[in-house]
Formats: sequence, structure tokens, C-alpha cells
Amino acid sequence: MRDIVLIGGGHAHLFVLEAFARKPLDGVRLTLVAKEATAPYSGMLPGRVSGQYPIDGGQIDLERLAKRAGARFIHAAASAIDRDERTVLIDGHSPLPYGLLSLDIGIVPDVSSIEGAARYGLVVKPISTFRRKLTGLLSGLSEGSIADVAVVGGGPAGFELAHALRKRADEAGVRSPRPVGITLLAGRRLLDGLPERGRRLARRALDEAGIDCIEGIRAARIEADAVILADGRSIRADAVLVTTVAAAPPILRRSGLAVDDAGFLKVRPSLQAVDDDTLFAAGDCVTLVGQERPKAGVFAVREGPVLAENLRRAIEGGRLRNYRAQSAYLMLLALSNGEAIAVRNGLALQARFAYRLKDRIDRGFVDRFAQRP
Ligand SMILES: Cc1cc2nc3c(=O)[nH]c(=O)nc-3n(C[C@H](O)[C@H](O)[C@H](O)COP(=O)(O)OP(=O)(O)OC[C@H]3O[C@@H](n4cnc5c(N)ncnc54)[C@H](O)[C@@H]3O)c2cc1C
Repeated sequence: MRDIVLIGGGHAHLFVLEAFARKPLDGVRLTLVAKEATAPYSGMLPGRVSGQYPIDGGQIDLERLAKRAGARFIHAAASAIDRDERTVLIDGHSPLPYGLLSLDIGIVPDVSSIEGAARYGLVVKPISTFRRKLTGLLSGLSEGSIADVAVVGGGPAGFELAHALRKRADEAGVRSPRPVGITLLAGRRLLDGLPERGRRLARRALDEAGIDCIEGIRAARIEADAVILADGRSIRADAVLVTTVAAAPPILRRSGLAVDDAGFLKVRPSLQAVDDDTLFAAGDCVTLVGQERPKAGVFAVREGPVLAENLRRAIEGGRLRNYRAQSAYLMLLALSNGEAIAVRNGLALQARFAYRLKDRIDRGFVDRFAQRP
């Protein structure tokens, strides 16, 4: 019996579990080790904030998915990988042997990069712990105890969350005597990496939604009722969402794996570690050497079917497939007004149909893994 162990219930592993459910592999025992029993789908998080989806929407039941795939489910965090012994170490469990190992463990928050973030910030990642923070934020908004919110991070997540908050604040029967103040602190440039037209649309959408945006200066400190910028300016905020601070999972370096300077696992196009044919990985926790891309769920999703196929071929003896990271992909940014900005290949447009398309894609993804018998 050969053991394939999957660590982490990230997006790519959903495809592996689906592939095994469809076609089991003889003589293979599959195990999923996951810190959480459900995987929250990040694309729907802004919609959970805005009220477009229920607060618990967009969750995939990993235990059920594992069961369908005939996999053992271990609800725990892996703490280290012992490559000499070919075992995974899990607190409170005996070492778990593997023949092939696959990692899809995302990123971890690094609250040390902004003073006060751990104490006063609502750090968005990991999304699994965000629900509790979100509940407090939403009740503060509706009771009127939160009148000003800041969002730290000018990437897609921060941009969408600022719009989601605007929608929620406008619709929630907020008691505040004035519209809730929302400030997006973009650090460097708002949506850096987007084509100029996309950034123009994004800035205009923020203006129209009454969201202040500060570019070109870093948030240095978060206090109980303010964010202090690196130039000393103070931005009033009763709640601060933090989307920026992310780092590589420490287990990678701790286990002596081949990582890049930032601590992310270096993989080849076959999604194998550069120095280990038995170690596969995908998603935000990897750097695909020679095809570096931003950390985004779309890559984890595209890697999923290749990972599933390669795990199978590694057992059956076939030639492994190479994953090619696409350089053009559709990005859809939901706004507070029922429209979305769509960006692809240097082109950008803003429309209601783009919002509906995003909704369809996101629901489709979750339904695919949540509901199929
Ligand atoms: C608000 C927000 C909106 C976003 N919207 C989009 C979007 O629209 N499109 C897009 O492309 N990207 C989006 N992203 C980015 C996206 O969330 C990530 O790129 C994506 O989730 C990465 O997927 P992954 O498979 O690498 O891992 P993740 O989805 O992060 O999952 C990793 C899993 O592994 C588990 N895990 C971690 N360590 C261990 C361990 N040691 N043992 C066991 N389990 C472990 C974690 O608990 C987690 O469940 C968004 C992010 C945020 C914050």
C-alpha cells in the first residue's frame, strides 16, 4: 500500500480530492491533513462582508470531500516534515508515513510588519478565523459604534473589501448620523500591476463610492482608534482591516525544504520540489521557478488538475505533465454599486454583467466541490 499525504485544504487539493473521488487509485491510501474542516473560498469573502452572500457562505466541507475521495481526514496542523524518515509530524499524532507528499497550505499572516496589527487590526488571512472578526465588525457598524473604517492594502483584496464595506454600511440601516467613513490605505500604488485604464476605473469607482484612498505611503502603526502612516499622519479608524501582511508558512523552512528568499517552496513545472521527486506542492505556498506570479487563487485553481494528474502518474509510472502559469487571466473586482471591473490582457471595463459573471464563477466553484454527490 502506498501512502499519498495531502497537507492543507487549499484550492489545488480540492481538485486532487475530486479526481480521486472520480477515479480511485488501486493500492494507494490517501490522507488529507487539514487545520480546518472547511475551506472558505476567498473569492466570496468580500460578498460575505457586503451581504451579497450569507456570512457563512462560500465554504467547502473538506471532511465530506475527503470521504467522497475515500481519503482519511486528519483534522490537525502538520508541524514539520521529516524527509529522512518520510514522515509528517503532527502534534498529538504519531508520525504519518508518506510515499508521496503534497502541500497546499497557503500563506500565514505576518502581523509583525505593522506595529499594533496583532492587537488592533482585523487581519483577513487566514480567512477561517475571519468570521469571528467579521461578526464584531458588522455589529459595530449596525450599532453605530464603528463610524470610521480603514482597510490596509491596495491590492485586489483590499480594494474589494473597501467596496464591500461601503455596500454593507449603506444598506445595513447603520445608526451613525453620517455615512460611515472608509479609507483605503494602498501603501505603494493602488492595484499595482493593473493596466492604467483598470487603475483609472478603480480610482473613479472609489471616488463615486465615497471611499478615500491614500497611495504612496505605508501604514506604520495601528492604534485603538487610528492608523498612523509612515509620515506621521493619523487616519481615524474604529476598525482596521489588514490585507497586506502575509508570509510563507514557517513549516517549509523549519523542515529544511528548498525555499526562496521569502521562504516559499521552490517547485518545478511538474509541481515537484526542485530537489525532491516525492514532494509536490501548489498554490500560494510555492514559487514556480522561472514563472513567478503574484499570489492569487487563480493559479492554485489552474495548478489543481495538473497536481492531481501528476500524483497519479507518479504512482502509475507515467511521464509527468508540466504546468504553465498563464500570464493573462481574467480579474474581476466587485464594486459597491452592483458592477465589477473586469481586467484581462491589458484591457479593462466596468459593467454590471461583470459583477454577475463573478458571482456565477464563484458560486460555480463552490457548488462544484460542495454539492456534487
Ligand atoms: C479577501 C480576499 C479576496 C481574494 N479574492 C481573490 C480572487 O477573487 N481571486 C483570486 O485569484 N485570489 C483571491 N484572493 C487570494 C486567494 O485567497 C489565495 O491566493 C488562495 O486562497 C490561495 O489558495 P491556496 O490553495 O494556496 O491556499 P489557501 O486557500 O490559503 O488554503 C490553505 C489551507 O491550508 C491549511 N493549512 C495551512 N497550514 C497547514 C498545516 N501546517 N497543516 C494543515 N493545514 C494547513 C489552511 O488552514 C488553509 O485551509 C483573495 C484573498 C483575499 C484575502
